[in-house]
Amino acid sequence: MTEEAIAIAGHTVRPGERKRIQIPLGRRVSGNEIALPVEVVCGRRPGPRLFVCAAVHGDEIAGVEIIRRVLANKNMRRLRGSLIAIPVVNLYGFVGLSRYLPDRRDLNRSFPGSPRGSLASRMAHVFFSEIVSNATHGIDLHTGAVHRSNLPQVRACLDDPETARLANAFGVPVVLNANLRDGSLRQAVLEHDIPMLLYEGGEALRFDEGPIRAGARGVVRVMRALGMLREVRVRKRDEKHPFVARSSHWLRATSSGILRARAKLGTAVKPGDRLGIVAEPLGLDESPVLAEKAGVVIGRTELPLVNEGDALFHIAAFDEPAKVASSVEDFREELHELLLDT
Ligand SMILES: [Zn+2]
Repeated sequence: MTEEAIAIAGHTVRPGERKRIQIPLGRRVSGNEIALPVEVVCGRRPGPRLFVCAAVHGDEIAGVEIIRRVLANKNMRRLRGSLIAIPVVNLYGFVGLSRYLPDRRDLNRSFPGSPRGSLASRMAHVFFSEIVSNATHGIDLHTGAVHRSNLPQVRACLDDPETARLANAFGVPVVLNANLRDGSLRQAVLEHDIPMLLYEGGEALRFDEGPIRAGARGVVRVMRALGMLREVRVRKRDEKHPFVARSSHWLRATSSGILRARAKLGTAVKPGDRLGIVAEPLGLDESPVLAEKAGVVIGRTELPLVNEGDALFHIAAFDEPAKVASSVEDFREELHELLLDT
């Protein structure tokens, strides 16, 4: 048996072929055409069809590098099934260093979209009808927003056993059984019964090596778990399982000023712990940022200038925060060793 050919935007990719397809999206205001670049690797043997996309939020560029590394993996030549890679979904935001589209809409609130809707809605529709309709599984790559960094984490609907299995396989220490947001790609994809993971790691407009490594390794591990790439045997005792967060909340600034942040990503905190200090420029009139609940820091601001009410630390609640923190330490070591390999 061989894999079936894939048809996208009037192009056909046959088993054993790898093709770059440009999906027309209309014209820019300057008159030139704009097209969504898609790389399709169609394996010789049948298997799942995985789409991996990045920069749905145009300034979340780390995923673009993750996809480049996945496509450069030599084992892609022996792929089972097909990989559909879309490194830059929000082309406008990517070029303009913005999360949004020129119509100020958030593409990730515009799915599944409509051919007669707003610019965002039309782009979402094209993505849905050309990409998602061709896929059996999906991974959407994100980072924190601008000036915010995220600990590498997977967000997924763990109620679905297949999604939970893939979230496990991704190999990051923290998984959030996250609520779906209206209009998000993940919600729209799930409504089509397609298991999908959302990966978050690093900061917008930055290349953080650790989260990029973790993301590229994660995508490859999911492909192995799906049988698309050859499985590497892991000894039972080396098998790791992520910790699943029960909930999460943002700790906000209670006053405006200069933040000296102490708590790093992956730190376990308990109520009353001092995570940072906000003060005026001369350091008089300091106010501590105190943890309210136990948990682990999974996101934080990287900007020391804060206004009252700004989100400073994203804390996820776990049954055993200290164990999570130590597993994050091990994970960092692993990533570091991987770095030395290359
Ligand atoms: Zn995002």
